[in-house]
Amino acid sequence: MTTFKELGLAEPILQALAAKNYEVPTPIQAQAIPALMEGRDLCGIAQTGTGKTAAFALPSLDYFHNNPKLTPQKGCRMLVLSPTRELAAQIADSFRDYARFMKLSVTTVFGGVPINKQINQLRGGVDILVATPGRLLDLIEQRALSLGHVEIFVLDEADQMMDLGFIQPLKRIDKMLPKQRQSLFFSATMPKTIADLGSQFLVDPVHVSVAPQSTTAERVKQYATYVNQAEKQALLTLTVKNEPIERALIFTRTKHGADRVVRFLEGAGIPAAAIHGNKSQGQRTAALQAFRAGQVKLLVATDIAARGIDVSGVSHVINFELPNVAEQYVHRIGRTARAGAEGIAISFVADDERQYLKAIEKVTRVRCELQVLPENFAEAVRNLPKAAPPKKGSEGGNGRGGPGRGNPDRAHRGRDGAAGDGAAPAKRPFRPRNRNGVGAHKGAVQRVAGR
Ligand code: AMP
Repeated sequence: MTTFKELGLAEPILQALAAKNYEVPTPIQAQAIPALMEGRDLCGIAQTGTGKTAAFALPSLDYFHNNPKLTPQKGCRMLVLSPTRELAAQIADSFRDYARFMKLSVTTVFGGVPINKQINQLRGGVDILVATPGRLLDLIEQRALSLGHVEIFVLDEADQMMDLGFIQPLKRIDKMLPKQRQSLFFSATMPKTIADLGSQFLVDPVHVSVAPQSTTAERVKQYATYVNQAEKQALLTLTVKNEPIERALIFTRTKHGADRVVRFLEGAGIPAAAIHGNKSQGQRTAALQAFRAGQVKLLVATDIAARGIDVSGVSHVINFELPNVAEQYVHRIGRTARAGAEGIAISFVADDERQYLKAIEKVTRVRCELQVLPENFAEAVRNLPKAAPPKKGSEGGNGRGGPGRGNPDRAHRGRDGAAGDGAAPAKRPFRPRNRNGVGAHKGAVQRVAGR
């Protein structure tokens, strides 16, 4: 197996990798680094979690080591575009880590925070700039930055960029970049529209692709429970109490939904934080830090806010609501099972979400194991506490999906649509597990959905 040393990376980079205990390159690193060190453009299909940040950071740092230059005033030598602020901050942290034995400046610019500090930071120029497209253009318009000296350009998470409507900003940015440069383009998926976008940025690129999405899905133990939308909160409290959670990411489809879940959990005495686009940058950073540090074990997130977040030790992903785009599910469960670890994904599936589950299973080619409602579920529904009222300054819920609605004893239908009548197909009883997904105690009652 190739080592980092054999790839020929400069000594200070090898030292930084040794300090991080990275022993061997991941597959995307092994494929990408040699081509990038030759100066080739690159088009990569890779998700976060595959080691792609180091795949583009390490050869770029090697280039800077071998080609030292003064930083261009109000400019940068390398530009990395990221769709979200969190991912931008994370990429910049990785660069700082890998460049810790080098004298290179790394700066992040994104929206949601005052622009003046960023203008000051850019004044003397920076080596590596990690930016979201909107704020980057604002800075260029304010003449705080020019892209005329960019030597290496990275467009990360291109599919997410498209989803967020960044296509026009990207085209504008492309026009401002020097023709003579090295370009890297990464996307988790590569449908034709994304490939076409890539071809605008790249010249004769090397193509690399790692781990088709189903691979992550195969490493995650996936469970699904059918439950009425109005009773999901009861199921959530039981799940977080029963599961051996180290850290769990809980996904909702909307920002309001995320806030509702946090209020409900807090009302039930379970600490949780939320991260989504309506939170201020300070709140998002604080929530993420508390989650990383293990002070809060439950982070409730929307898809966009959570995309690309790399926190190790996420033992569980709980889909409080299923995404209506199957690929999004793959991104979600990719937050667990990082770096070879196994993870657990649990989906709460309401009647109107069954079609989503079907579509998801088609994409992942993995069937979720059905898990029946826990034995004390009906009681938990009856005892649902009132949700804590919205905090001042946070969005108000619309009152839908509140606790205690619906009849807890109502029949839940099985996968095939038949009402649970005791003759439902064999299903996995709900019971606490250890990390390997093995039932941790015997005797859980096989309360098949329904009465
Ligand atoms: P990324 O896909 O860039 O978000 O990286 C996913 C995770 O893998 C991050 O926590 C990295 O620090 C880690 N990582 C990247 N490369 C390696 C490697 N060669 N060996 C061990 N861990 C790595």
